[in-house]
Amino acid sequence: MPQRTVAVVGGGQLARMMQQAAVGLQVRLIALVESPESATAQVVPDSRVGRADDAEALAALAHEADVLTFEHEHVPNATLAALRAEGHPVEPGPEALVHAQDKVVMRERLAELGVPCPRWAVARSAEDVTRFGEAVGWPVVVKTPRGGYDGKGVAVVDRDETVPFPLDAEQPLLLEEHVPFTRELAVLVARRPGGELRTWPVVETIQRGGVCAEVVSPAPGLSPTTMRQAEGVGRLVAEGLGVTGVLAVEMFLVETPGGDRLLVNELAMRPHNSGHVTIDAHTTSQFEQHLRAVLDLPLGDTTQREPWAVMANLLGSELEEPSDAYPTLMTELPHAKVHLYGKEVRPGRKLGHVTIVGDDVDTLRVQAARAIEILSGRRRA
Ligand code: ADP
Repeated sequence: MPQRTVAVVGGGQLARMMQQAAVGLQVRLIALVESPESATAQVVPDSRVGRADDAEALAALAHEADVLTFEHEHVPNATLAALRAEGHPVEPGPEALVHAQDKVVMRERLAELGVPCPRWAVARSAEDVTRFGEAVGWPVVVKTPRGGYDGKGVAVVDRDETVPFPLDAEQPLLLEEHVPFTRELAVLVARRPGGELRTWPVVETIQRGGVCAEVVSPAPGLSPTTMRQAEGVGRLVAEGLGVTGVLAVEMFLVETPGGDRLLVNELAMRPHNSGHVTIDAHTTSQFEQHLRAVLDLPLGDTTQREPWAVMANLLGSELEEPSDAYPTLMTELPHAKVHLYGKEVRPGRKLGHVTIVGDDVDTLRVQAARAIEILSGRRRA
């Protein structure tokens, strides 16, 4: 049967949820996964086990697909460039993806585009860190430019404290001022190769211990001006970097009596945790939109269908199998939409999420928290 084939690199929950959208569109998904038991391999029959940095495995995947895409950024750029040069569509392309792979490259390019960012510098020595701290004020935030996720590779360093990452001249660290943000926002944008672009409503993300715990859509109490500015920054980044597919732009919001200030924290060029809410709350989910965009199909409507939506992550569980809690959860909260990722339970691990939509944001937040309490086995008697 003639059908479109999308190859995705990565075997986590994002490629797993991409399959949900692929099923509806009759798109064939093939995946390069870390293990045959991975969250993706459980639902994508055409999963091949291999490393994301294995050039041969990537080439084999690309040969079989109409387009190669990703659920994470840990892919060697040179290999992607070579595949492109051979005529294999790779979306987002390596020249865009590098900005989600290397935080120093990202800061340099965003500065060129005039996108507001925290003050930053690179550090090759302890003296560089001291000089920056004295200039912008202590503490400072130190980041490893590559390979970080969920707060790993990020440290807050005060005057006279030691930087917990190796400092060497070859691989500089990124330094940022410690932003006194009041809230964190994210804007999700999807872009087609020709430039067609859609955004979803700007959301508020709530992190606990450096990990996203909750997302509220739209971000409560945001002024229309700030909402428009956040969206504008998302568009500027998507266009400026020539992104194809879904782009998440994470931002800090600094609210002061004098007005709001937005500063870009980081970028992801793939479906993102801040967009899980779109599966149940918006006309087109981020996963469907990503497939449409990388296949160069017209993008879907991104309207939110209910006034409010709250998504909460299940981070670890006391239960060996969180789905054992379904009878309680489904009795108590029949309108909660549950997504479990088929992962083995480990402390703090992202095992799934719950989305609840409705009219009253405070009620939804309480209900989402309650749903997580039930699935995590930490429920009240
Ligand atoms: P990761 O790539 O691991 O997600 P981030 O760069 O997003 O790392 O940082 C993780 C969290 O650390 C952010 O969500 C934010 O809460 C905090 N953080 C990062 N950079 C800064 C900064 N410059 N000022 C204040 N807090 C920061």
